[in-house]
Amino acid sequence: MRARYEKVFRLCVLALMLGMILFVVLQNQSQAVEEIDYQTFLQRVKAGQVSQVQLGEGAKLTAKDKAGNRFRFDNPRIETLKHSLLLQGITVTEQVIGPGSLALLAFLLTVGGLAVWGKVRQGVRAPVGKSVMESEKTVPTTRFEQVAANEEAMESLRDLVSFIRSPEKYSRYGARIPRGVLLYGPPGTGKTLMARALAGEAGVPFFAVNGADFVEMYVGVGASRVRTLFAKARKAGSAVIFIDEIDAIGKKRDNTSDEREQTLNALLSEMSGFREQEGIIVMAATNRIDTLDEALLRAGRFDRQIEVPLPGYEERVKILQVHAQGKPIDEGVSLPALAAQTALFSGARLESMLNEAAIIAAKRNAQSITREDIDHAYDVMLCGMDRRSGFGLERERELTAAHEAGHALTTFFLLPDSHIRKVSIVPSSKGAAGYSMAIQPEKMFHSKQELLHHIAVALAGRAAEEILYGSDMVSTGAANDLEKAAALSRRMVCEWGMLPDGDGLYLFNQAKRDEAAQQWLQLGYELAKKVLLGYRAAWNRLTLLLLARDAVSEEEVKACLAQEARYS
Ligand code: ADP
Ligand code: ZN
Repeated sequence: MRARYEKVFRLCVLALMLGMILFVVLQNQSQAVEEIDYQTFLQRVKAGQVSQVQLGEGAKLTAKDKAGNRFRFDNPRIETLKHSLLLQGITVTEQVIGPGSLALLAFLLTVGGLAVWGKVRQGVRAPVGKSVMESEKTVPTTRFEQVAANEEAMESLRDLVSFIRSPEKYSRYGARIPRGVLLYGPPGTGKTLMARALAGEAGVPFFAVNGADFVEMYVGVGASRVRTLFAKARKAGSAVIFIDEIDAIGKKRDNTSDEREQTLNALLSEMSGFREQEGIIVMAATNRIDTLDEALLRAGRFDRQIEVPLPGYEERVKILQVHAQGKPIDEGVSLPALAAQTALFSGARLESMLNEAAIIAAKRNAQSITREDIDHAYDVMLCGMDRRSGFGLERERELTAAHEAGHALTTFFLLPDSHIRKVSIVPSSKGAAGYSMAIQPEKMFHSKQELLHHIAVALAGRAAEEILYGSDMVSTGAANDLEKAAALSRRMVCEWGMLPDGDGLYLFNQAKRDEAAQQWLQLGYELAKKVLLGYRAAWNRLTLLLLARDAVSEEEVKACLAQEARYS
C-alpha cells in the first residue's frame, strides 16, 4: 500500500515537472507569434485594431488585435503606457510573473521536486508529513443505492447513519453508541465503498487512511499521525474515519515492533476518548479478522463487526445492475444469466468486467454493449484469474467446489460428532463430480433433531448451488443427495413415527405420510440454506481452498472453518 502511495506521489511530481516544462514551452510558442516594432504597434493602436495588451516586466509585451491574432513588440518601459492604452478603450492585463521569473519558478519546482523524490525513494518521509493520509476529507457523493450488499450489512449501515446524525438521541437513553465498526471479508467486496457511502448518506466528511501509513520508520510518528487524524475529525464535529488494511497496525502483538505498539495504543486511546455527543464513527477494513489483536475487538472499540463476503447470486445481479447504469447495454444481454456465470466474482471484479466490455464496445464504435462484448470481457477477466482449464469445465469445477464445501460446512456445524475425512472435487471414475466424506459415530439411536440435520447436510449441496447460481441454474449433480434425503425423511415418518409438527405416532394414511415426509425435506433444505448463509465467509473460503487444491483433509477443513466459529 505504501508502495502505491509512493508511486502516486512520484507520478504527481513527474506530472508537475512536465506541466511546468510544457507551460514554459507553450508560453514561448505563443510568443513566437508575429514580431512587430513599437512604431507599428502605435499605428495599430491608432487604427483601433488592438483589443488587448498584456503588460509585464519582460523585454517584450504581447497584445491581441480584434481578429484575435497575437503579436509581440518591444517593451517601451514607460509609466504612462497603461494610461494611454486605457484611454483608447483597450483592455489591459498585467502579468504578475514575467517569463524570466516563470522559468526560475519552474527551475525551483523541478529542483525541489527532485529532492523530495529522492527522499521518498530512500523510504524516508518527512517525519510529520501528513500529505497522503488526510487527502480525503470532503463529504462523498456516494449513496447506499450504489452498494449492493446483503441485507444484514445494509441494515447495520443504516443504523450507523442514525447514530452519526443524532448521537444525542441515543445518549439520552444511556445507550452506548458503537464507535468502531470492523468490515471484514475478501478484497474487492465493497468495504471501502460502504464506508464512503455511510459518510455520504450521513452527510459528513470522510477521512480515508491506510493502516500502512501509520507504520513508519521513526518511532512515535504513527502515534502522532493517529492523534492528528482524530483531531481533524473532531474539528469537523461528525465524521467517518476509514482505516483500510487495519491489520498493518492491529496485528496481534508480538513485541517485535515498538512503533506499531505505540500506534495501536494511540488508536485505542483515541477511540476510548470519544465523547457521547460526538458523531464520529471509525470504520476499519481487513480481510483477516483472525490476525487482529483482541484488544481491538473489545467493547468500546471495534465491537461492531460486519461481515462482507463474496456476493451470492442475488447480490451479483444487484451489483451488475448498479454498474450497468449509464451504460448502453444491449437488450440481448441478461444480467441474471451473467450473474449465474460469475460465481465467486467479487464486486470489484464484476465492475471491471462491465467496464472492460464497455471499452471493447467503444473501440468498435458500437451502438450498444452486446453479449459478445461481455463474453469477451469475461474471458479477459478469467485469464486474470489464472484458470487452468476451459470456461465450461472451470464453471463445473466451481459449482462442484461450492456444492461439496456446502456438504462439509453443514456437517461441521450440524453434525459435530461426525468426522469429515476428506473433501474433494476430483471427478471419480463412477461419475461423481466430487465428494465430501464423513464418518458417522456408532450409535444405537438417533434423535429427531439429529435426523433433520442429516437431511440438511444431504441437501446442502443443492442449497449451495441455488444460493450461488440462482434457482434456475441448479445442476443434476445433486441426484444422489436428493435420493438419500428423501429415503431418510420417509423412514422418519413411516418407521419411526416422527412428524415435523409435534408428536405423532404411526400414520396409516398414505397421503398424510407423503405430506409429512415432504415437510421434513423442506425443513432440511431451509436449514441447510440458513447455515450456508450464516457462515457464508467460511463457506467461500472453503470453496476457494478446494478450487486451489482439488482436495482438502480433515485438519484443513477444520482450520478453515473453526476460525469462523470463534467470531460468529
Ligand atoms: P474493498 O474495500 O472491499 O477491497 P472496494 O470498496 O474498494 O472493495 O471495491 C472496489 C469497487 O468494486 C467499488 O468501488 C465498486 O465499484 C465495486 N464494488 C465492490 N463491491 C461492490 C458492491 N457490493 N456493490 C457495488 N459495487 C461494488
Ligand atoms: Zn452432493
